[in-house]
Amino acid sequence: MENRACLACGQLFSPRPQNPAQTYCTKKACQQERRRLWQQIKRDTDPDYVDNQARAHQAWLERNPDYWKQYRSAHPQYAEDNRAKQLVRNYKNRSCLIAKMDASNSANSELNGFYQLILLPNQMIAKKNAWTVYLSLLSAEKSRSSFMIAKRGRVAKAQYVC
Ligand SMILES: [Zn+2]
Repeated sequence: MENRACLACGQLFSPRPQNPAQTYCTKKACQQERRRLWQQIKRDTDPDYVDNQARAHQAWLERNPDYWKQYRSAHPQYAEDNRAKQLVRNYKNRSCLIAKMDASNSANSELNGFYQLILLPNQMIAKKNAWTVYLSLLSAEKSRSSFMIAKRGRVAKAQYVC
């Protein structure tokens, strides 16, 4: 059997005779990547699969009602990260959405004021050279469209994005 490059790690491997079409090597990480992609395709293309997964998950939750409560108490950083993500979801659901709106819109003057700038956990940062932050209004004050915030010794300039 001829060697070929694994689609995940790129290293050469020899396909098993039982599976001549094998495209991923046998390393655990590569097999996990193969399965992850398979599941992603199934979720995108097979509504029955999505429905089955949801029902199986619900049944598991009913068999293990305290699992997440115990997990959160054993992993406080996970719980803190989720709280920060929920803050963002709440913010997005209740008011103007971030980005894509015209920053010169006159309605933005209503957003002038002092904000609390919260740096979100690392895994939520999409670009390494940018911060992902959540802004919550502390007090409205019609003034400038950008401002300075000092918190924990840091000074950050923030601009409205909606
Ligand atoms: Zn591999």
